[in-house]
Amino acid sequence: MAVSSKRRTKKRRLLIWSLVLLLALLIVAFRLVEEIGQEREPTDRFIVARVQDGDSMELQGGDRLRLRAIDTPEKGQPLFDEATRLLDSLAVGKIADIRFVNQRRDKYGRLLGYLYIDSLFINKIILENGLGYLYLFRDTRLDSPEIRELLDAQRNAIKRGVGLHGLKRAPEDYYIVKQGSFRFHRPGCRAVRDLKPGTFQIFETREEALYEGFSPCRNCKP
Ligand SMILES: [Zn+2]
Repeated sequence: MAVSSKRRTKKRRLLIWSLVLLLALLIVAFRLVEEIGQEREPTDRFIVARVQDGDSMELQGGDRLRLRAIDTPEKGQPLFDEATRLLDSLAVGKIADIRFVNQRRDKYGRLLGYLYIDSLFINKIILENGLGYLYLFRDTRLDSPEIRELLDAQRNAIKRGVGLHGLKRAPEDYYIVKQGSFRFHRPGCRAVRDLKPGTFQIFETREEALYEGFSPCRNCKP
């Protein structure tokens, strides 16, 4: 009796381990299929239903899209309406070609990509009109053709003083960028307090920081 009960336990254990192994294999296989699927189809087609602001919109079917590498004014900030209207006029009702880089979605579950409509690079048009800032992250590849195009568009808008670049602001004495970051701050911002020498960069004007592709901190709003 005791022997057969032991054997049964052994059998049950073996079964459980087999199931665990099978599950693990299935998860790995699913991941592989997903990744290969993404590689084969870097550009997907969608129709823009409505815009929420200058850099995000809803697609037909309810999915949301956030424009990659740019940041436009939030509701209540200057030029929010202008940025929203521009995206509305360019995108609503149109077929959108979305180009994804690295990941397809941001942390809020929105699609994240470069948007092309009738072969116009929409992210770039927003920056060209000064209705948003280039907005980069540590993992951004600065030598990618899209980022170069976007930085050129922003430099152009700075030179012409259009949109956000034409607004009157009380200047700080200088602006600070922490090493490895793409944000610039006011001298008093908590994010750049007590920095050690050699771990930050100083810009005399916000235009100089923007010209190099840095974007304003969302807290101290320089
Ligand atoms: Zn700051």
